[in-house]
Amino acid sequence: MNKEYIFFNDQFVEAENAMISVKTNSLHYGTAIFEGIRAYWNEEKKDLFLLFGKEHYTRLVRNARSMFMNIEYTPEELVDITLELLRKNNIKEDVYIRPLVYFSDLALTPKLIEYKATITIYTYRFGKYLDTSKGIRVQTSSWVRNDDNSIPSRWKVAGGYVNSALAKTEAILSGFDEAVMLNSAGYVSEGSGENIFIVRSGKIITPEYSDHILEGITRNAVKQLADDLQIVFEERKIARSELYAADEAFMTGTAAEVTPVIEIDHRKVGNGEIGNTTKLIQEKYFNAVRGNDNRYSNWLKSTYN
Ligand code: PMP
Repeated sequence: MNKEYIFFNDQFVEAENAMISVKTNSLHYGTAIFEGIRAYWNEEKKDLFLLFGKEHYTRLVRNARSMFMNIEYTPEELVDITLELLRKNNIKEDVYIRPLVYFSDLALTPKLIEYKATITIYTYRFGKYLDTSKGIRVQTSSWVRNDDNSIPSRWKVAGGYVNSALAKTEAILSGFDEAVMLNSAGYVSEGSGENIFIVRSGKIITPEYSDHILEGITRNAVKQLADDLQIVFEERKIARSELYAADEAFMTGTAAEVTPVIEIDHRKVGNGEIGNTTKLIQEKYFNAVRGNDNRYSNWLKSTYN
């Protein structure tokens, strides 16, 4: 068994030594900023490809800055630290990477200033988050998406995920795989951990940034794939009932990848099977992320070469 290392307090330490106090400020107020990154193992090339490392760390640093958290590393340095962590953990399979920035002070005031922000990064072996081959059944949540003027969905901030946890739990307990949340204006925003897309008359349509969504990195990748495939990509408001009128639907996320949605609120999407546009985007995405399509090699960073 390999030892598991975690990047903690500016060093690589053994997992059992990466411990924090119960008095840690961010634990109490949900003020931590995090990311979720994947790296894909390519068996033929015997290499592990970090996907969109720079983009994830750029989002992390930018979000952290909005929370008055000062990280002493640049996104490039954090990518290098992550690659070193993957090598130290000798990872030769698909893996998820979780960076977390938190206020480590043992202090009891919910505020964002005069505290010290620190970053930790660990690796987590996990496969599929949602069923990307069969597709999923989703439910419009009774929980309204966090509003930008309360807890911005644009930030991957721990406290904001109470909203996600409520929606995801309600969906699971009601027998669905995932939730889709409407925003305070009543328009479709996103899933508990995914951006959402519909396909109508061959066009891919997704809520715009001002619809209280996370600025998804996979969402951007889909936009690029759609452009390359000359599929129209539209960012605009989507009403709940338009979900029912869609020919196809899918959700995206680093964890969720490209997951087809085959049923919404007990209504079949299209004919209830995975649509052709969804299939095409999914196939291109999976090839690209595993390093099997040279056109997208700039999405990836090699771990072992
Ligand atoms: N929305 C939410 C609420 C999420 O948690 C995620 C996962 N990070 C996404 C969308 C998808 O974002 P990305 O493609 O950058 O992983």
